[in-house]
Amino acid sequence: MLAKIIITLGSYRLAFRFGDLNTLKGKMSEKKKVKKTKKFKQKTEKLGETQARYTPDVDKVEGPVYCGVCGEKMTVKRNVHGWRTFMSAMGGNPNSKSNYDVFQCPVSEEDWHKQVVKLRDRARNESSSKLEAILREEAEEVLKTKVATKKVYF
Ligand SMILES: [Zn+2]
Repeated sequence: MLAKIIITLGSYRLAFRFGDLNTLKGKMSEKKKVKKTKKFKQKTEKLGETQARYTPDVDKVEGPVYCGVCGEKMTVKRNVHGWRTFMSAMGGNPNSKSNYDVFQCPVSEEDWHKQVVKLRDRARNESSSKLEAILREEAEEVLKTKVATKKVYF
């Protein structure tokens, strides 16, 4: 009699436990589904005129993202671990490493691309509007022909 009671109680407990587990599983998969549909906070991002690299938080931007310099579709690497900016890499502090996504222009290392960035940088900081116009005109020409008119170094 006592054994029967213990067994009955035991199976009730088991049923309760499994029931509980299934509810829990259901809740977890529901959460996953919601997360999947809400995965990216934004579709894309418009970059600045000299921006060939973009490092938003992990899965913030779905993409595609287009290069701010030349308009090329950027390649993306998700969940990269390291220093996000050049400055923090220079600092070398391992605690300032983090995870982020990297959008990169596939032709950003080309001479003409580097020159466009340099010319636009210079134009932006130029105090003469006439010189700025000349710099911007040359930047447009280099962008159009994809041929550098002068070798620039970074
Ligand atoms: Zn580019």
